[in-house]
Amino acid sequence: GESIIGRAQKNGIINVECIDIRDFTEDKHRKTDDTPFGGGMGMVMTCQPIFDCYKSVRESIPEQSKTRVIYMSPKGRIFNHDIAKELSEYDNLIFLCGHYEGVDQRLIDEYIDEEISIGDFVLTGGEMPAAIMTDAIVRLLPGAMGDETSALSDSFQDGLLEPGVYTRPADYKGWKVPEILLSGHQAKIEEWLYEESVRHTMERRPDLLEE
Ligand code: SAH
Repeated sequence: GESIIGRAQKNGIINVECIDIRDFTEDKHRKTDDTPFGGGMGMVMTCQPIFDCYKSVRESIPEQSKTRVIYMSPKGRIFNHDIAKELSEYDNLIFLCGHYEGVDQRLIDEYIDEEISIGDFVLTGGEMPAAIMTDAIVRLLPGAMGDETSALSDSFQDGLLEPGVYTRPADYKGWKVPEILLSGHQAKIEEWLYEESVRHTMERRPDLLEE
């Protein structure tokens, strides 16, 4: 409910619903997990509550709308700006967030369009990855950001990192803002910003330039 996602909801650009899988369990102890077949450590999220939860979510959205069902998983394609852009084109995104050792593979085989990871590390649940993806996707939607041009100049938007940014005062404790930015010469400023952008990318992420 905060920041850009909060505002995007107030402005009717998006609607976020968090659904507790446990509310769908038919188990009298509200259990949603069980021990893995074949042995091994940890617990696995069972089919029934997730299947019923998924069915109820699907029934709440129009059948013809463009929907992608994503399982948050360290085994998935690693999330990046291009995936955020791709997913911003959908009407609905359903994020299945796992816990414990993850969810029963049969659910993934039957209902998941894609597994996505937010990086090569393992978290305890999929909720934070889903929140991170939601933030990255929502800020790309038209009207979600106050100033739409700001999303356009962000890092990765054009395959380059953003140049350093500066604001007033022009001189703080003797640390000066690059003079060119104060020159008022817009064409030269643009050229300098582009060069800075390339320099930052070359120094920090040369792999982006190769792509
Ligand atoms: N045993 C699993 C990890 C389970 S972690 C394995 O080794 O692959 C529990 C849940 O946290 C996962 O089901 C997933 O939904 C979420 N999760 C953990 N790390 C993640 C990551 N890097 N990206 C996205 N989701 C992650």
